[in-house]
Amino acid sequence: MVDREYNGKCLCGAVSYRATGLADIWYCHCTQCRSLTGHFLAACRTRRDRLFVSGDIVWSPHSGAAEHARCAQCGSLLFWANRSTNSISVLPGGLENTDGIDVGGHIFVSEKGGYYEIDDGLPQFDRYPAEALGN
Ligand SMILES: [Zn+2]
Ligand SMILES: [Zn+2]
Repeated sequence: MVDREYNGKCLCGAVSYRATGLADIWYCHCTQCRSLTGHFLAACRTRRDRLFVSGDIVWSPHSGAAEHARCAQCGSLLFWANRSTNSISVLPGGLENTDGIDVGGHIFVSEKGGYYEIDDGLPQFDRYPAEALGN
């Protein structure tokens, strides 16, 4: 967990946000994340009270109790959250910089696409390890 402030925004700039307490980035290769993004999802979580958003976002169902948020204007994917937890994940592509944030590894590798290989040497999990979970 990094105790510094990070700033991010969507593609069109209508939504901006700042976050503290960001945890490691995890790459999720599950079927739902692949359908949503067209490839796979990167996400790093923090507590809901550590993310401050300005601008209009729209939440949509993801899977189970999970949902994801987009900019209401340009549709940029910005956040992922599970309604049953107190955490929310920032999708790091929107961050101005990610200095100091580590990458934890890959989760749901058992559902990854057949058209790519994972060969970056990071840990891989068929589902997910405890440290990749929000709480
Ligand atoms: Zn936007
Ligand atoms: Zn996923």
